Amino acid sequence: MVGSGPNGLAAAIVLAEAGLQVGVFEAEAMPGGGVRSMQLTVPGFLHDFGSAVYPLGAGSPFFSRLRLREHGLEWVHSPAPLAHPLDDGSAVTLERELRDNETSLGEDGRIWSNLLRPFVEHWKEFAPEVLGPQPSIPRHPLLMARFGMTAFLSARTVARRFRNERTRALFAGLAAHSFLSLDEPLSGAFAMLMAIPAHAVGWPIVQGGSQSLTKALCSYLATLGGAVRTSSRVGSLDELPEHDLVLCDVTPRQLIRIGGARLSATYKRRLASFQYGPGVFKLDYALSAPIPWKARECLRAATVHVGGSFDEIAASEKAVRNGQHSDRPFVLLVQPALFDPSRAPSGKHTVWAYCHVPNGSRVNMLEKVEAQIERFAPGFRDCVLARSVLDPADLESMDANLVGGDISGGIIDIRHFLFRPSWRHYATSAKNVYLCSASTPPGGGVHGMCGYHAARMALKRL
Ligand SMILES: Cc1cc2nc3c(=O)[nH]c(=O)nc-3n(C[C@H](O)[C@H](O)[C@H](O)COP(=O)(O)OP(=O)(O)OC[C@H]3O[C@@H](n4cnc5c(N)ncnc54)[C@H](O)[C@@H]3O)c2cc1C
Repeated sequence: MVGSGPNGLAAAIVLAEAGLQVGVFEAEAMPGGGVRSMQLTVPGFLHDFGSAVYPLGAGSPFFSRLRLREHGLEWVHSPAPLAHPLDDGSAVTLERELRDNETSLGEDGRIWSNLLRPFVEHWKEFAPEVLGPQPSIPRHPLLMARFGMTAFLSARTVARRFRNERTRALFAGLAAHSFLSLDEPLSGAFAMLMAIPAHAVGWPIVQGGSQSLTKALCSYLATLGGAVRTSSRVGSLDELPEHDLVLCDVTPRQLIRIGGARLSATYKRRLASFQYGPGVFKLDYALSAPIPWKARECLRAATVHVGGSFDEIAASEKAVRNGQHSDRPFVLLVQPALFDPSRAPSGKHTVWAYCHVPNGSRVNMLEKVEAQIERFAPGFRDCVLARSVLDPADLESMDANLVGGDISGGIIDIRHFLFRPSWRHYATSAKNVYLCSASTPPGGGVHGMCGYHAARMALKRL
């Protein structure tokens, strides 16, 4: 294995479970890629470098069968998965139970439930279908046909079903996870793919920081005889010890570099045409107190979407998609120490936040992000003890897969959804070389399903 992100570790586990001897080479000093925790600000405060909230981790068909709890993994759920503050000083919340959500969304509650209920109630059947390579022959054709009816619509089109501006704002925040413009096809599906697990399995954080998820995966891998060798960057596949198979938890651009002559010129051209998505501008804070939200409901949720109305969020995402920086960026914010005291000294707090920026941007968005938080939580800046600022180049220097700050391993528009990164999906032009990162189906997010499917294909062919 090259790379020990969640997909690399998932693939390593599948191979080791099948009885293969597995070695994982990891460039960085810590395993985990986008699933690591670090002291990014001041001593005593623990921050998630990459991912922080795990709807697809908790709902992953692969992770769910690994008994990671026995290896120290504990999901922590906030009372509400998500809060979305609005300018009138109130907040709309996404509640875990559809029933409670119906109360919270008022006249839109029933419409929301009708849209999502079939997939929430059948998450166990639905998750393996949507978290696999597409197109595929569905095992649950009726369920998938129902999803397909809305999946290709834009978020704006789907949101027209709601009567209330508050519900539309909530839906926009969910859709904005896609990095697509909210007028593009598939952006509606993303909103649904965020909301469905919120009701089915929750949006948990990890007790003790995200690193605990990586530790649990490494610990289980060790019981199967697999080992991770850190600080071991692979510059070329020819450097690797003798092997039957090599699976690469890297993105296409890196595969071209390390694959060298093993890959055909046609395949390399195909990889070279793979497109990366926008980047992120990431901030971490050590705070003296919880965020002073105007809307107290925001303290019930680990994740808060800061961006106001549907139209504002749509404008922010459209600007980024067009290579511009939004003056009022949509900010994804997580306040883990409210629910996991191990993240900060007693009474103190940590905050994780990012906004989307064009790929490779060097623009400092600090002022604009903080202005957005202050808009809904006046006095926020007075609570800041220390902050860490990571722009796309900083992120890429800490995890080579974050090309230009793209956290999803490549854009997910229709082309990159169906051919990710080529029609071969996990296979490459070399017989024993496979790709298993988020640049393969089903794409970004911490679920391990890219690694799982890649390893299964590799084993079958071996
Ligand atoms: C700031 C940020 C916020 C995010 N928030 C969330 C979130 O809240 N929830 C969520 O589900 N997802 C989130 N994500 C996305 C998620 O982290 C990624 O989609 C996921 O980590 C992808 O896993 P991966 O295994 O494909 O790649 P990665 O996790 O990026 O791992 C790749 C690994 O390969 C190593 N590597 C690369 N090249 C080489 C080489 N040549 N030799 C050896 N090793 C190499 C890297 O060092 C790295 O450890 C976030 C990501 C970031 C950066």
